[in-house]
Amino acid sequence: MSLTHCSLPVLGFAAFSGTGKTTLLEKLIPALVEKGIRIAMVKHAHHDFDVDKPGKDSYRLRKAGATQMLISARYRHALMTETPDDECTLNQLLGQLDQNNADLVLVEGFKHNAFPKIELHRAALGKPWLHPEDPNIVAVACDDSSSSVPSSELPSTSLPRLDINDIASLVAFIQRWMESHNAQTATCDSLSPTLLSVDDGRAKILDEIAVSEHTETCDLNELPHRVLAADIIAPVNVPSSTNSAMDGYAIRSDDIEREGYRLVSDVFAGHHYAETLTAGECVRIMTGAPVPEGADTVIMREQASDDNGTVSFDTTKGAIRAGQNVRQAGEDLRRGATVFQAGKRIGAAELGMMASLGFDRAEVFKPIKVALFSTGDEVQAPGTAAKSHCIYDANRYTLRAMLTKLGCEILDFGIIEDTEAALHATLSTATEQADMVISSGGVSVGDADYIKTVLRQLGDINFWRVNMRPGRPLAFGKLGDVPFFGLPGNPVAVMVTFLQFVEPAIRKMQGDAHWQPETLSAITQERIRSRRGRTEYTRGIYSISANGQLEVRSTGSQGSGILRSMSEANCLIEVAPDVDNAEVGDRVTIIPLASRL
Ligand code: AMP
Ligand code: MG
Repeated sequence: MSLTHCSLPVLGFAAFSGTGKTTLLEKLIPALVEKGIRIAMVKHAHHDFDVDKPGKDSYRLRKAGATQMLISARYRHALMTETPDDECTLNQLLGQLDQNNADLVLVEGFKHNAFPKIELHRAALGKPWLHPEDPNIVAVACDDSSSSVPSSELPSTSLPRLDINDIASLVAFIQRWMESHNAQTATCDSLSPTLLSVDDGRAKILDEIAVSEHTETCDLNELPHRVLAADIIAPVNVPSSTNSAMDGYAIRSDDIEREGYRLVSDVFAGHHYAETLTAGECVRIMTGAPVPEGADTVIMREQASDDNGTVSFDTTKGAIRAGQNVRQAGEDLRRGATVFQAGKRIGAAELGMMASLGFDRAEVFKPIKVALFSTGDEVQAPGTAAKSHCIYDANRYTLRAMLTKLGCEILDFGIIEDTEAALHATLSTATEQADMVISSGGVSVGDADYIKTVLRQLGDINFWRVNMRPGRPLAFGKLGDVPFFGLPGNPVAVMVTFLQFVEPAIRKMQGDAHWQPETLSAITQERIRSRRGRTEYTRGIYSISANGQLEVRSTGSQGSGILRSMSEANCLIEVAPDVDNAEVGDRVTIIPLASRL
């Protein structure tokens, strides 16, 4: 199912303008409603379409800057949302419908999106047929059945052919189609091996993953990239005392209107003036030094002149405002406030912050232990003499590098001989020692490898076909309590499936509560090929164009064995299942790789 935001059947009408789509729908909808079918409609309109009228309150509020305007009355309400940057996708729009109060969504427009449609055709218009180019058309409704039309112009198709003027037969077709749609949706999950979307696969995996229960206390220097297991609470105020934001002179704010001030002391950072400043006095003060009691205003050095201990200020260089250039105690952080919540990954800024609060250690999650091995009789270790018909093991090394980047502890079991005994022994030991087990190779449907047999014996493993490229075969499940990933064999597929499925799982186990993969939107400079109905990951190179736009192009040939293209890429271009090929100038989603590989 590509329209992931909608559980209802969605049916479109594809036709050239002039075919009379709306006129037909106007007759069709009451006939469907009469059968008890509640209809929701989604219609595409031209660029500047506006449902509102100038002068109406809702119009004025929108023009005043409300980017979402929900207007409600006794009998209806309407939501108007401004989308100046990117038009909403069909999938997002469907997500906004009240799906509990409809049985069928009819769509007019969105011709280039992949979802089921009935093609409407009127011979008199002399337009070409759409179904030869659009595999999503489920039936054609036309008026070409009359004998006046030459048979050469009739659609040569196995699709059901309906009479566009026979509303009753259209209704009967739609009812049958809805029944088969609903039956398919209901059984989709019980098929094996299941064909899954990337999002559903990831959601199923994350459902099975529990946050680690193992924590430890570590020194500051061991904390980078670790995840906090407890909140960090400020033990002090930051800054700890009210201090000067400048090199200058501190005075009292009730003493601003004065010609000259008597300089009573110098206050350097790390020192303080022990007395209360009185009217007529000033101290010379350095940035960060505590402001003396009584004083609350600092004038910068550049405005001051000191005549034998009498200091005056040139207010033509700037008026003196009460309280200026002073940082209040606790201004950045109050004692007792939560500085970082458990689940935060520690980077340079977090580490500096903890140090500045006086912490020399913190409680973090223990590193996840990941057992790793490669399978396949053709796979041999680098450093050994090349045998004929063999390939060197690349996957264990890409996986080790990605696991290291995530801060995992690695238990490397090497290359395992493709026999039942060897795989059984390895999986049993790995499960005892590790928090997670990852293998590569041997999980494709129809693969002769023993790994599938052994996995079936040892645990509860699903062999999925994920609707993605590269990386369609994926095994996931539990060996006892230990999550197991059987990644594909192809080196690029290994990396892409790791990024999409394994990394989110590891981060969840690690307690990394706030992580979301970074995605950006870029303009493609090339056509990005993609089959409808599956998520396509193209290795890409993004950059900023001369006019400041984020642009992306592919690295070229996209075979899933071509590891070099993964090295050339700085991003993956993700084309969603409901989108056809991305054309030059289209916006595409990119997943930057720099922080992840
Ligand atoms: P499989 O999923 O086992 O059918 O493998 C798919 C492809 O990936 C085959 O061409 C394998 O030779 C290749 N392959 C499997 N394991 C590895 C590995 N560890 N390193 C590099 N290529 C591999
Ligand atoms: Mg194999």
